[in-house]
Amino acid sequence: MRSVFDCTISDLEEYFTNIGEAKYKARQVYEWIYRKRIFDFDEMSNLKKDLREKLKTDFSCKPLKIEKVQSSSLTKKYLFRLDDGNYIEAVLMIHDYGRSVCVSSQVGCNMGCRFCESGRLKKVRNLESGEIVRQLLAIEEVDGKRIDSVVIMGIGEPFDNYENIMRFIEIINSPYGIAVGARHITVSTCGLVPKILEYADNGLQTNLAISLHAPNNLIRDELMPINKVYNIESLIKSIDEYIKKTNRRVTIEYVMLNNVNDSVENANELADLLRGLNVYVNLIPYNETSHLQFKKSDKTTILKFYDALKKRGINVTIRKEFGRNIDAACGQLRASEVEK
Ligand code: SAH
Repeated sequence: MRSVFDCTISDLEEYFTNIGEAKYKARQVYEWIYRKRIFDFDEMSNLKKDLREKLKTDFSCKPLKIEKVQSSSLTKKYLFRLDDGNYIEAVLMIHDYGRSVCVSSQVGCNMGCRFCESGRLKKVRNLESGEIVRQLLAIEEVDGKRIDSVVIMGIGEPFDNYENIMRFIEIINSPYGIAVGARHITVSTCGLVPKILEYADNGLQTNLAISLHAPNNLIRDELMPINKVYNIESLIKSIDEYIKKTNRRVTIEYVMLNNVNDSVENANELADLLRGLNVYVNLIPYNETSHLQFKKSDKTTILKFYDALKKRGINVTIRKEFGRNIDAACGQLRASEVEK
């Protein structure tokens, strides 16, 4: 059965038109679900009884089941059980500028980044757009507060599930629904070049983050198998084209791995690579996991790296560490559940 959470407004309008009903009913359904948070067609009282019965046979409308929550003061990590028994996770982060949620885009991931826990367990399947929407709804439901921004940076490679991600964005961006502003939505990719170029054409004001993590092909080949398909030069070229087309600044994520990519020499090389691009670099302290041998860079190393980039005129910030004490590194909670 189709999930109502998979439907954009125009999908529902088309549905109602096809069954001989007025189009505006799509907006009424959206209002029940996303404004009043009623997940039961029986309670949608401005729809006729026989129409409610029909909706019940055509659509499921079930919120996502929360299996486990791990909290620290500014972070809450949720483990969800999907209808088919698979597990995924999402993280709520409370910043001083608002509440942001990091959602998963796939069950597992095929990109195989060496330092990442998600990639240890291969991709089982893509998430449907509605399953990503339901992560947000479930978190708002238990947290009791509105989410301000969404980052698609949880388990999975969003551009390996491109259509569902674009549909997810359309659904949460709809003014009749949750209405998360495009500028508050960020997609993070490990560098699927053709999809970056396609994303540049979407006409939305959403944000793009690139997991670069290395200043050259030698290091990136070792860390990220995707680099053997789309090397650094082609990736940088696609970022340049994206910026020219969209006029939007791109975030470059750079995870700091002890003795792997964290020397001042690496910083200088990174500055050369990014020179002239409208980007800012987010240095990410590595979240160590027990299964992988990588270690985090120490604080002084990170600061030296930061200073070297600054000196070369690169915009750079150091990401605040969220959720280290609650296994919030990408994929850790799911892995521990699956391997139990
Ligand atoms: N596949 C997408 C989005 C999911 S990963 C991407 O690669 O961007 C989200 C980010 O977390 C990526 O930058 C990823 O490289 C990083 N990451 C993965 N494991 C991490 C860890 N243990 N500590 C810190 N960052 C990690």
